[in-house]
Amino acid sequence: MTLFELFKKIRPYVKPYRVLVVLTLVLTVIGSFAAQVNAYILRYTVDSISDLMVAHKPLSDGFTLLGTISIILLGKEIVNSLVQFGQKYYGERLRILIARDFSQSIVEKILTYKLAFYTSGDNESGKLQTRIDTGISSLTRLVQNFFIDIFPLFANAIVALIAMFVANVWIGLVSLAIVPLYFLISQMQANKLSGFRRKMRNYRETKNNSIISLIESITVIKSFVREASEAEKHREIQYDITENQMETRKTAFLFDSIKGLLEQIGVVIIIILTSYLVLQGDLTIGAIMFHIMLFGNISAPIRQLHRIYDDVNDALIYSEGFFDILDSNDQIENSGNYKPEKIQGNIEINHVDFIYPNGTQALFDVTMFIPANKTTAIVGLSGAGKSTIVNLLDKFYEPSAGEICLDGMDLAAYNTTFLRENIGLVLQKNHIFQGTIAENIRYGKLEATDEEIVIAAKKAYIHDQILALPQQYQSDARLLSGGQQQRIAIARLFLKDPPIIFLDEPTASLDAIATEQIKQSLDAIKENRTVIVISHSISQIIDADHIVVMEHGRSVESGKHETLYNQKGAYYEIFSAMANSLNIDKITHTMEQDHEDDD
Ligand code: ADP
Repeated sequence: MTLFELFKKIRPYVKPYRVLVVLTLVLTVIGSFAAQVNAYILRYTVDSISDLMVAHKPLSDGFTLLGTISIILLGKEIVNSLVQFGQKYYGERLRILIARDFSQSIVEKILTYKLAFYTSGDNESGKLQTRIDTGISSLTRLVQNFFIDIFPLFANAIVALIAMFVANVWIGLVSLAIVPLYFLISQMQANKLSGFRRKMRNYRETKNNSIISLIESITVIKSFVREASEAEKHREIQYDITENQMETRKTAFLFDSIKGLLEQIGVVIIIILTSYLVLQGDLTIGAIMFHIMLFGNISAPIRQLHRIYDDVNDALIYSEGFFDILDSNDQIENSGNYKPEKIQGNIEINHVDFIYPNGTQALFDVTMFIPANKTTAIVGLSGAGKSTIVNLLDKFYEPSAGEICLDGMDLAAYNTTFLRENIGLVLQKNHIFQGTIAENIRYGKLEATDEEIVIAAKKAYIHDQILALPQQYQSDARLLSGGQQQRIAIARLFLKDPPIIFLDEPTASLDAIATEQIKQSLDAIKENRTVIVISHSISQIIDADHIVVMEHGRSVESGKHETLYNQKGAYYEIFSAMANSLNIDKITHTMEQDHEDDD
């Protein structure tokens, strides 16, 4: 990205604050004129005093002069502090407001993106967060630098240069000739330092990651007694960082010295030239101080120049990633307009192929029918493509080939928001947000009353357990057990009350007792809805009205439990394996003995 492109991208964000920008700039211009007053006053003072001395005037004449000068300087200082305050305050305000707008707009934007955007390797949550954070901070630093540091300093320098030219063209030309040298040195400094900075950033990231992974794997480290080797690994990074830091400081100090020297050489040249012109009679003696002060104003921004190079470079690098995220319009979810009065729930999947964005083909020519108001179980080994079907039905992804129809209409034609409002999803681990139980249930219907929440909790068979908690509905939901959290998720669905429900291994992360406990709430939510259940639990499969069997991304069998079992095909194999893993013989034997003992 070029600087021009960057400014074009930032412009819409600065536009709402035009008044602030103009105000800051006006204050800057006033400030830069005020900054030259000292030079003029000093020249006037020196010239006047030397005149007085030459003319042998009385001391009282001098007092009048000093009084006038003091008043002017004081007045200028007052104006200057007001201007500086205003300029800094408005500049900072601008920065804060723009940073806020950047952060808000990126969050609003990415929320509209497809699921594929989040699951792609480039956007793993940590990376996405870093790209957004560094993008925003480098952009806002650029805005801040521009209005608070760069612009005022450069405005000062330009006004000072003009003042020099007005006083004497030769001195103006000499000062102007020295400036490019400073630019050159600053650019060299920035280039040199940027290498170090880039390395440092990598080291820091590696170091942070390594500490995190160390904490995560502490049990393994300790059990293998690898403390010493881990410490050694860490020491290497730490030493690299130290070395890099030393080099950075060394380079920075070296360039600072060179720039300091150059600046002093500039001052000496100005003194010599001005003195020469004074002796020639072209200038008055006050001009010496006058030009030295003005030259100080010219060289001041140059001391900051390398930092400006850095910030602009940073902004160019990091904002690219940021704007890539902000502008990926091809990631926005597709949506049709179709919103029927009522959804029946008949789903037909016709010859659907699906390839994930990373290239994995998960579905091959899948055809299946899911009847309305019945429970359909999708059965298959892990990786068979069951969850992928649910992802497609929820329009998280679109089929690569074939079509999916809901009540005879292509899913693509449906309004995505409308569709999702009519679908409920229960996953293996339902996300429980930080907050109270009531808040977590209310997520299903934001405007629900407290009574509605209680009714939903009762339907999900969790109400009594909530009442037993010390803070009841106001308890922290994250402290609940896995089975209880799952029932909170189901209560949430009762509030949402969608006609279609997908249950993707809802009991997989629960132990046997918790599974038994949530059975009632699952049965309750299934009533009068179209339900697709993906499960490895035999009881949930047998309970289904209809079963579809998937193998390696293909739907291979469908029908009722008894029919499929008797076919002795894929279903028979999976079912027998599940049953065998339960060791039914032994269970039956134990239970029979138990009965015999009772008898
Ligand atoms: P199941 O639910 O039957 O266990 P999935 O539908 O989760 O199977 O997975 C089917 C195939 O798709 C697997 O090979 C899996 O690795 C792949 N897959 C699942 N999710 C993704 C994804 N987000 N990106 C790429 N491949 C995926």
